[in-house]
Amino acid sequence: MKTSSPASGTLYPVGTPIGNLEDITLRALRILKEVDCIAAEDTRTARKLLNRYEIHTPTISYYDARERRKSGIIVGRLKAGESVALISEAGLPGISDPGYRLINEAIDAGVPVIPIPGPTASFTALVVSGLPADRFIFEGFLPPAKTARRKKLFLLQDEERTLIFYESPRRLITTLNEMKEIFGDRKVVIARELTKKFEEIIRGTVSEVLDRLAGREIKGEVVLLAEGRRGKPDWKHISAPDQINLVMKDLGIIRMEAIKLVAELRGRSKSEIYRRYHHKSP
Ligand code: SAM
Repeated sequence: MKTSSPASGTLYPVGTPIGNLEDITLRALRILKEVDCIAAEDTRTARKLLNRYEIHTPTISYYDARERRKSGIIVGRLKAGESVALISEAGLPGISDPGYRLINEAIDAGVPVIPIPGPTASFTALVVSGLPADRFIFEGFLPPAKTARRKKLFLLQDEERTLIFYESPRRLITTLNEMKEIFGDRKVVIARELTKKFEEIIRGTVSEVLDRLAGREIKGEVVLLAEGRRGKPDWKHISAPDQINLVMKDLGIIRMEAIKLVAELRGRSKSEIYRRYHHKSP
């Protein structure tokens, strides 16, 4: 890593609102005014925010598909002495949003990176969820493909910390049904349209939440939280070979994949679980 040259500019990842435009800090507004340019995931959304606060700083677009090419250009500008604010469409850049590549390239180039904090949907939802907030994990979006999503949930079933997911409103019911099947009927929370006009928080067991949502068209943006597993997992009730057979059937995956998953879940090596399966020992 190079050391920062006195001539280089600064990269400021800036937190912006997740809905309500009032949720922005005074410091964020000042930085957005003072920088030479704003790299924005969505320049149209950025314009709404900037117009509201009469900020006339030029914007350039910086989104997923162009991250690689744009990062190089932006780092070039930073090295030439310009300061740049990085904002995403909502919340914190880099959190299920572009930013990671640019921030890393700036760090590697020795450019100072100074965070300007702001809201993020994940923590905002966690705080009002009523679920333990002392230990939690953020999983971002679950994979959209059915098998990959079920595998992910399977591997998370023994997680003891509160789980936070981003979810599309179209997949919410499917995911809740899969959670009920794989995690059991534990507590979940839906935080929908946070800070916006139709903000809604639904708390309950998976079954209760599914009942509340029955027949409804779910719209807007959603954070889904699940209570972590209570108590230690007890594998005595099922042998490794039986679990492999169950997993193959439930997730529709081949034996070697099931062996790998069960090994990961039980914290054992693949070869040990493979041997147990073939000798049918518990
Ligand atoms: N960078 C953002 C952050 O810091 O929260 C997240 C961007 S991610 C592409 C968008 C997802 O975040 C949405 O699909 C939803 O799951 C969640 N989200 C964003 N704004 C939200 C809001 N106002 N209410 C509920 N969920 C929200």
